[in-house]
Amino acid sequence: MRVVLLGPPGAGKGTQAKPLQEKYGICQVSTGDILRKAVREHAPLGKQAAEYLDRGELVPDDVMLKLVAERLQEKDCEKGFILDGFPRTVPQAEGLEQILRDLGSGLDFVLCIQLPQGVLIQRLSGRRTCKKCGGLYHILLNPPKREGLCDSCGGELYQRQDDREETIAARLRVFETQTAPLVDYYRMKGLLREINGVGSSEEIRSRVFQALGAEHDLS
Ligand code: AMP
Repeated sequence: MRVVLLGPPGAGKGTQAKPLQEKYGICQVSTGDILRKAVREHAPLGKQAAEYLDRGELVPDDVMLKLVAERLQEKDCEKGFILDGFPRTVPQAEGLEQILRDLGSGLDFVLCIQLPQGVLIQRLSGRRTCKKCGGLYHILLNPPKREGLCDSCGGELYQRQDDREETIAARLRVFETQTAPLVDYYRMKGLLREINGVGSSEEIRSRVFQALGAEHDLS
């Protein structure tokens, strides 16, 4: 299965990608995670991307398309993938189509998780991320068992630079102007499944599986 997860920052794309990954045995490709890793490791890609990430702006399309084309050719993507955070512009969506055509495949679904702005701001400003495994927490809605430490791997939790209030507004604006047009783009192609993102992560997970037509055990 080849799926795109679309939605504004804070909609829960990363959280919802995990159960899909487990159920279908497909890999999660989070372009944000790949870029943050490149920045941490001072890789050439990280040097190119760091300023964009800090400002909450989009990394140029040609850089992103090259990155995704390479990633989707890796062995673990053969069975399928969940693209989390890509595409974010119409040229990226067009480029993705070409990449998949070259690989002899295409998308099965585009899931769009929707949420009111106020909820997004609350989610992003309280979000904490594990430095080691990328695990996601929220200081009020989903706190870790031990303050500041990841439940799964014990890694240190931190607030992403772009989850600070001054950058959140910029990221939401970027979504509205550059990424929201993809909703119509994929609707026209008959691939879009809209998901109400209000509720607990379990409720949303069950809506996601329903949208994919899959039976899902909530336990
Ligand atoms: P995310 O973790 O998906 O919220 O992404 C964090 C940041 O990485 C974004 O604010 C952008 O600066 C950059 N980024 C991630 N994915 C893309 C993309 N598809 N196109 C351009 N920039 C991206």
